[in-house]
Formats: sequence, C-alpha cells, structure tokens
Amino acid sequence: MSILTPGGAGIRPQHENSSLETGFWNAAVPSMCVVPLQQHTGSRIDPLVRTGDFVREGMVIAESDRRLALPLHAPIPGRVRNIGRVQLFDGTYSAAMSIELDGEFDRLGKHLEPVAWADLSRDELLQRIRAAGVVCGPRSAAPAHLLLGPKRPRGDRVLVLDLAETEPYLTGGVEQAVAASDAVLTGLQIVAAILAAERVHIVIARGYARRLERLRRSAREIGYRVHRVARRYPGITEASLRSFVRRNHVDGNSDDDLFVISPNTAYAIYEAVVFDKPQIDQVIAVGGSAVRRPAHVRVRIGTAIADILAECGGLTAEPARIIAGGPLTGREVANINAPITKTTAAVVAMKREEIHVGGAQEPCIGCGACARACPVELDPQLLHRYILAGQTDDARTAGLPACIECGLCAHVCPSRIPLVDRFREVKRVHPLTGDGVV
Ligand code: SF4
Ligand code: SF4
Repeated sequence: MSILTPGGAGIRPQHENSSLETGFWNAAVPSMCVVPLQQHTGSRIDPLVRTGDFVREGMVIAESDRRLALPLHAPIPGRVRNIGRVQLFDGTYSAAMSIELDGEFDRLGKHLEPVAWADLSRDELLQRIRAAGVVCGPRSAAPAHLLLGPKRPRGDRVLVLDLAETEPYLTGGVEQAVAASDAVLTGLQIVAAILAAERVHIVIARGYARRLERLRRSAREIGYRVHRVARRYPGITEASLRSFVRRNHVDGNSDDDLFVISPNTAYAIYEAVVFDKPQIDQVIAVGGSAVRRPAHVRVRIGTAIADILAECGGLTAEPARIIAGGPLTGREVANINAPITKTTAAVVAMKREEIHVGGAQEPCIGCGACARACPVELDPQLLHRYILAGQTDDARTAGLPACIECGLCAHVCPSRIPLVDRFREVKRVHPLTGDGVV
C-alpha cells in the first residue's frame, strides 16, 4: 500500500471510536417512522399517498417530475398516520409523513434475486440508482444519479473510495465495508462503470487496514490501488487527493476529475442496482460518553433519535450535548424525538467532561488558535469578522469558498464561537446548480 499524507494542519483524533463495539446489528423496526420529505438537495417532491393509506415496505411515497427531484420510499410497511410538518433534530421544520408499522415486510427476511448489473447500460444503471432514491452522503444530500450522470469533459476520471474518515465516531461506513466488503466493492465497480473511470483508488485510514484485509485483497485482484492514510482529522479532502495525485505523478495529474464516494453510498448503490432496493436504512454509529452501549446499528430512515439511543441501552447520565453526525461537523440535536435522515451518519450523546469546551460564547480574544488549526490555511477569525460586518464579498476574497467545513476552528476556539456554523450559512452553495451566496 502507498501512504497518502495530507498536508496542512489538523488534529489527531482521540480514541473515542475505540469505545464503540465493532460490527453492527439490525435495530428493532420502529413502531412509527416519521419521514421528512426533503432529504435530498434538489427539487421539492410531493406525497403520492394520503392519510389512512396503507404503504408497503420500500414503496414510493413521494415523488415529482421536477428535474432535480428524487423519489422517497416507505422505510416500513404500515398505515400513513399523518402528512404535515415535523420538527427536525436541528430545530427547523420540514414537510413529513408519519407511518405506523403494520402489515408484512416485502424485503426483510426475503430472498431477492440479484440482477446481472454488468449487462445493464449506463442509463439503466443511473435509472436504478435514481429509482432507489440514493443520495451521496454523509456530507452531501445530492442525488447520486445527478452527480454521476453528466459526462465529464476534462482530464482522466479517477474514482476514490473514502475509507479514511477520521472524525471521531463516524465509523458506520467502515463497519459496513468490513461486514460487506464484496457488496461495497461491487458498488464501487458500478460507479466506475458509470463514470468510465480510468483509475480507482481506495484510501484507508491507518488503524482500519487490518480489519479491511479482505476488501484490500479483492480490490487489488480487480486492479484497484489501495493507499493507507495517516490517522489525522480532517483526513482526506479533495484538495489533499489532488495534491497526492500531482505529487506522485504515478498515474495522473492535477486536471484529473476526482469523484469521491463513501462506503455507505457504495453499498446503497449496490443494493439499488443489484437488488432494486431503495435507500430505506443505513448503518450508523451511536456513541459518546453518555451512551450505555456505544455501538453501530442498521436503522430505518425515519427512526427517532430517542429510539436509536434506547436501542443502545439508553443513557447513563443526562448528556450535555447530543449531536447528529460527528462531534466536529454534526448538528446539535434540539429535538430528541426527531427522525434520522439519509445523511445521518452518527448519533453522539456526550457528558460535559467529553466536550472540549462548554459554556456561553464570548468575544474573540485574537489568540490565533483557529488559524493554526485550519487545514486549508484560512484565517477563520478574519472570515468571521467580515461575516459579522455583512462583508461577504470580503470573506469570499479572503478564501471562504476554500473552507471545507471541517469544524476544527470552532473546536479549538476558547471563546466558543460557532465559526463553522456561520461559514456554512454564508457559503451554502447548491451542489448541483452552483446557486448560493458565495
Ligand atoms: S471549518 Fe473551514 S475555516 Fe474552520 S478550520 Fe475547517 S476549513 Fe478552516
Ligand atoms: S480561536 Fe476563537 S478566540 Fe482565538 S482567534 Fe480564533 S475566533 Fe478568536
């Protein structure tokens, strides 16, 4: 294996992940799923069923013929209890549908015949991915078929499977790849076929390599290159990948068109194409010092965060913070009864002693810790000052578009300024249309 070493600052993650049980189990199917309708970045979709209707497991319950729409499926069979609005975990509201468990499962415990995916055309592959409602998570909610669909004009097409996630607790994808390495590799091969990728790389964070031995061996047999990366957060970024390709000249240059995919997305694409299965569940990490049994579980989309914590034995103490996602890039949970969505990779409940800093926000003291931590050499305090003054053009000129939203600046800030939240709000750009403030 070659060793890929991203440059710049960053941190060595602590050992929180080691407190999670390896492997995963299927969580109990919830008696009620609340399914937010807008789980993808793109056009609004409309309910296809009404209150009181019965829905089957995996049935399309909302859809639209708008260009950037993505169908949504019932995670469980049952009766539609309500179609209205729900408060999401971050406190915002969304159109949603609640389904009360009832009836038989169409997929759970059933034998499904695989499809010979290699016989399908590129358009057929994309169509199956769209029909399954797959998004390219966990950092994006863009529909996978829209990201994969356009023909890529410049440079070679290089596909990368990212097993280098080093944000504490975001280990569900690794567990998926360990448990189902052949399926994840098949998903990767499907994406490589759609992209007509010239080369495929797999990057693995040091520490995961031994558990991923089977995947590494199989990958080499089909001609994919496997790299080991330093265990640093933020691990692999598109910028560090480009720099690696440029530095090594081995098989590419800076014009290469890189497409990075997570193991959970590769697995969802495998299930979509080979088994016609919609994205209705996923493996997530449930961790933090306040969780009784930190572990990984496969949960249905639409399961309440409170039910997921209960699945892992509940809480041992009142948590000071609950985060949906990783502790650095995730969102504070304002409503524990809110459902998880297709991009929720983790639920983390932390006691006060686990939180790096606590208490109220204070003014910037100009310590420079944020700039020293920034892996892309920005000056977060300067960006923040511009944003507070409403000078978003100056923030852009000072490099805001290069921010990778890793959350490190906020993590190290002694004044507890939510820097990355501000940056996210200002630089929010639609990944498909490019519309946005910055
Ligand atoms: S969130 Fe952006 S500004 Fe802050 S450390 Fe990460 S890349 Fe730098
Ligand atoms: S780390 Fe916080 S207090 Fe220190 S310079 Fe950056 S924004 Fe200001």
